[in-house]
Amino acid sequence: MVPKEESTTSEEPELAPYKIEAARSGRSKCRTCKRKIDKDKLRLGILLEGPYGTGYLWHHLTCAARRRIEDVEAAYAENAHEGLQAPSLSELQALQEKAAKERSARKDPPYAERAPSDRSKCKNCGEAIAKGALRIVLAREISFGNQVRTTPINVHAGCVAAELQSEDCTIEVDGFEESLRQNSELEPPAVDEALTAIGELD
Ligand SMILES: [Zn+2]
Ligand SMILES: [Zn+2]
Repeated sequence: MVPKEESTTSEEPELAPYKIEAARSGRSKCRTCKRKIDKDKLRLGILLEGPYGTGYLWHHLTCAARRRIEDVEAAYAENAHEGLQAPSLSELQALQEKAAKERSARKDPPYAERAPSDRSKCKNCGEAIAKGALRIVLAREISFGNQVRTTPINVHAGCVAAELQSEDCTIEVDGFEESLRQNSELEPPAVDEALTAIGELD
Protein backbone atom coordinates (compact mmCIF):
# COMPACT_ATOMS: atom_id res chain seq x y z
CA MET A 1 0.00 0.00 0.00
CA VAL A 2 1.24 3.47 -0.84
CA PRO A 3 0.99 5.86 2.10
CA LYS A 4 -1.11 8.90 1.35
CA GLU A 5 1.57 11.56 1.34
CA GLU A 6 3.59 9.61 -1.20
CA SER A 7 0.81 8.79 -3.59
CA THR A 8 -0.52 10.80 -6.46
CA THR A 9 -4.00 10.42 -7.78
CA SER A 10 -4.52 8.14 -10.74
CA GLU A 11 -6.03 11.02 -12.74
CA GLU A 12 -2.56 12.36 -13.34
CA PRO A 13 -1.36 11.55 -16.82
CA GLU A 14 1.29 8.86 -17.22
CA LEU A 15 3.89 9.05 -14.52
CA ALA A 16 7.42 8.14 -15.47
CA PRO A 17 8.53 4.78 -14.02
CA TYR A 18 11.41 6.56 -12.25
CA LYS A 19 11.78 9.99 -10.79
CA ILE A 20 14.82 11.66 -9.27
CA GLU A 21 14.35 14.88 -7.36
CA ALA A 22 15.40 16.87 -4.33
CA ALA A 23 12.96 15.85 -1.59
CA ARG A 24 10.24 18.48 -1.36
CA SER A 25 9.70 17.89 2.34
CA GLY A 26 11.32 15.91 5.13
CA ARG A 27 8.39 13.53 5.39
CA SER A 28 9.28 10.69 3.06
CA LYS A 29 11.08 7.60 4.19
CA CYS A 30 13.83 5.68 2.42
CA ARG A 31 12.64 2.15 1.60
CA THR A 32 16.21 0.90 1.66
CA CYS A 33 17.64 2.22 4.94
CA LYS A 34 14.22 2.90 6.53
CA ARG A 35 15.37 6.35 7.64
CA LYS A 36 13.80 9.72 6.93
CA ILE A 37 14.80 11.50 3.74
CA ASP A 38 15.73 15.07 4.67
CA LYS A 39 14.29 17.94 2.66
CA ASP A 40 16.40 18.74 -0.42
CA LYS A 41 18.21 15.39 -0.34
CA LEU A 42 18.24 13.63 -3.69
CA ARG A 43 15.79 10.78 -3.79
CA LEU A 44 14.87 8.15 -6.36
CA GLY A 45 11.18 7.35 -6.77
CA ILE A 46 10.19 4.00 -8.20
CA LEU A 47 6.66 3.99 -9.53
CA LEU A 48 4.38 1.50 -7.90
CA GLU A 49 0.96 0.75 -9.28
CA GLY A 50 -1.08 -0.66 -6.47
CA PRO A 51 -4.72 -1.25 -5.67
CA TYR A 52 -4.87 2.08 -3.81
CA GLY A 53 -3.44 4.17 -6.57
CA THR A 54 -0.22 4.90 -8.26
CA GLY A 55 2.70 6.58 -6.56
CA TYR A 56 6.40 6.63 -5.99
CA LEU A 57 8.23 4.67 -3.35
CA TRP A 58 11.29 6.67 -2.39
CA HIS A 59 14.90 5.79 -1.70
CA HIS A 60 17.89 7.99 -0.97
CA LEU A 61 19.65 8.08 -4.34
CA THR A 62 22.83 6.82 -2.69
CA CYS A 63 21.00 4.01 -0.85
CA ALA A 64 19.41 2.94 -4.14
CA ALA A 65 22.86 2.91 -5.74
CA ARG A 66 24.19 0.62 -3.04
CA ARG A 67 21.34 -1.87 -3.05
CA ARG A 68 19.53 -1.61 -6.43
CA ILE A 69 21.86 -0.14 -9.02
CA GLU A 70 19.69 -1.60 -11.84
CA ASP A 71 16.93 0.85 -10.94
CA VAL A 72 19.39 3.75 -10.80
CA GLU A 73 20.80 2.77 -14.19
CA ALA A 74 17.29 2.60 -15.65
CA ALA A 75 16.44 6.01 -14.18
CA TYR A 76 19.60 7.56 -15.62
CA ALA A 77 18.88 5.94 -18.98
CA GLU A 78 15.60 7.84 -18.95
CA ASN A 79 17.41 11.05 -17.96
CA ALA A 80 15.48 11.26 -14.70
CA HIS A 81 18.47 13.13 -13.22
CA GLU A 82 18.42 15.87 -15.84
CA GLY A 83 18.57 19.39 -14.49
CA LEU A 84 19.64 18.23 -11.03
CA GLN A 85 23.00 18.46 -9.34
CA ALA A 86 23.15 14.69 -9.21
CA PRO A 87 26.24 12.49 -9.03
CA SER A 88 27.27 10.85 -12.30
CA LEU A 89 26.18 7.30 -12.99
CA SER A 90 29.78 6.10 -12.72
CA GLU A 91 30.10 7.64 -9.25
CA LEU A 92 26.96 5.76 -8.20
CA GLN A 93 28.24 2.55 -9.79
CA ALA A 94 31.45 2.96 -7.81
CA LEU A 95 29.36 3.24 -4.62
CA GLN A 96 27.62 0.02 -5.58
CA GLU A 97 30.91 -1.80 -6.19
CA LYS A 98 32.23 -0.64 -2.84
CA ALA A 99 29.06 -1.70 -1.01
CA ALA A 100 29.12 -5.10 -2.73
CA LYS A 101 32.76 -5.55 -1.73
CA GLU A 102 31.98 -4.70 1.86
CA ARG A 103 29.09 -7.13 1.88
CA SER A 104 31.15 -9.93 0.41
CA ALA A 105 34.06 -9.23 2.76
CA ARG A 106 31.78 -10.27 5.57
CA LYS A 107 30.97 -13.60 3.94
CA ASP A 108 32.95 -16.79 4.00
CA PRO A 109 33.91 -18.44 0.73
CA PRO A 110 32.83 -20.54 -1.00
CA TYR A 111 29.60 -18.89 -2.04
CA ALA A 112 27.73 -18.13 -5.23
CA GLU A 113 26.45 -14.70 -6.21
CA ARG A 114 25.41 -12.80 -9.29
CA ALA A 115 28.10 -10.56 -10.74
CA PRO A 116 26.90 -6.99 -10.08
CA SER A 117 28.71 -5.60 -13.13
CA ASP A 118 30.73 -6.94 -16.03
CA ARG A 119 33.95 -5.54 -14.59
CA SER A 120 35.09 -8.58 -12.58
CA LYS A 121 37.50 -11.12 -14.01
CA CYS A 122 37.76 -14.82 -13.34
CA LYS A 123 41.01 -15.47 -11.44
CA ASN A 124 41.22 -18.91 -12.98
CA CYS A 125 40.89 -18.25 -16.73
CA GLY A 126 41.43 -14.47 -16.74
CA GLU A 127 38.29 -13.79 -18.78
CA ALA A 128 35.60 -11.28 -17.76
CA ILE A 129 32.56 -12.46 -15.84
CA ALA A 130 29.35 -11.20 -17.45
CA LYS A 131 27.06 -8.96 -15.44
CA GLY A 132 24.30 -11.04 -13.85
CA ALA A 133 26.18 -14.30 -14.39
CA LEU A 134 26.53 -16.66 -11.45
CA ARG A 135 30.03 -16.27 -10.13
CA ILE A 136 31.63 -18.32 -7.43
CA VAL A 137 33.75 -16.78 -4.71
CA LEU A 138 36.60 -19.04 -3.61
CA ALA A 139 39.74 -18.20 -1.67
CA ARG A 140 43.45 -18.24 -2.42
CA GLU A 141 46.53 -17.97 -0.30
CA ILE A 142 48.69 -15.11 -1.44
CA SER A 143 52.09 -14.28 0.00
CA PHE A 144 53.32 -10.75 0.49
CA GLY A 145 56.98 -11.00 1.37
CA ASN A 146 56.97 -13.46 4.24
CA GLN A 147 53.32 -12.93 5.09
CA VAL A 148 50.65 -15.26 3.83
CA ARG A 149 47.12 -13.99 3.49
CA THR A 150 43.92 -15.59 2.34
CA THR A 151 41.98 -13.50 -0.09
CA PRO A 152 38.62 -14.09 -1.79
CA ILE A 153 38.68 -14.60 -5.55
CA ASN A 154 35.92 -14.65 -8.17
CA VAL A 155 35.71 -17.44 -10.72
CA HIS A 156 33.26 -18.61 -13.37
CA ALA A 157 31.11 -21.52 -12.21
CA GLY A 158 32.68 -23.55 -15.03
CA CYS A 159 36.19 -22.75 -13.74
CA VAL A 160 35.59 -23.94 -10.16
CA ALA A 161 36.78 -27.52 -10.78
CA ALA A 162 40.07 -26.28 -12.26
CA GLU A 163 40.61 -23.69 -9.52
CA LEU A 164 40.04 -26.23 -6.73
CA GLN A 165 42.95 -28.23 -8.20
CA SER A 166 45.30 -25.26 -7.98
CA GLU A 167 47.86 -25.24 -5.20
CA ASP A 168 46.99 -21.78 -3.85
CA CYS A 169 43.27 -22.45 -3.54
CA THR A 170 42.30 -22.91 0.10
CA ILE A 171 38.84 -24.35 -0.57
CA GLU A 172 38.44 -28.09 -0.20
CA VAL A 173 36.56 -30.31 -2.61
CA ASP A 174 35.27 -32.24 0.41
CA GLY A 175 32.09 -30.62 1.63
CA PHE A 176 32.15 -28.03 -1.15
CA GLU A 177 28.48 -28.41 -2.09
CA GLU A 178 27.30 -28.13 1.54
CA SER A 179 29.44 -25.05 2.19
CA LEU A 180 28.25 -23.39 -1.00
CA ARG A 181 24.62 -23.98 -0.05
CA GLN A 182 25.20 -22.69 3.45
CA ASN A 183 27.17 -19.57 2.57
CA SER A 184 25.30 -18.36 -0.53
CA GLU A 185 22.63 -15.74 -0.08
CA LEU A 186 20.97 -16.65 -3.40
CA GLU A 187 17.64 -18.41 -3.65
CA PRO A 188 18.03 -22.23 -3.56
CA PRO A 189 17.15 -22.68 -7.29
CA ALA A 190 19.97 -20.27 -8.20
CA VAL A 191 22.39 -22.22 -6.01
CA ASP A 192 21.26 -25.42 -7.77
CA GLU A 193 21.90 -23.70 -11.08
CA ALA A 194 25.39 -22.75 -9.90
CA LEU A 195 26.10 -26.30 -8.76
CA THR A 196 24.97 -27.67 -12.11
CA ALA A 197 27.27 -25.23 -13.89
CA ILE A 198 30.14 -26.18 -11.57
CA GLY A 199 29.63 -29.86 -12.48
CA GLU A 200 31.26 -32.91 -10.94
CA LEU A 201 34.17 -32.30 -8.59
CA ASP A 202 36.76 -34.89 -7.73
ZN1 LIG B 1 18.35 5.52 2.64
ZN1 LIG C 1 36.89 -18.60 -15.79
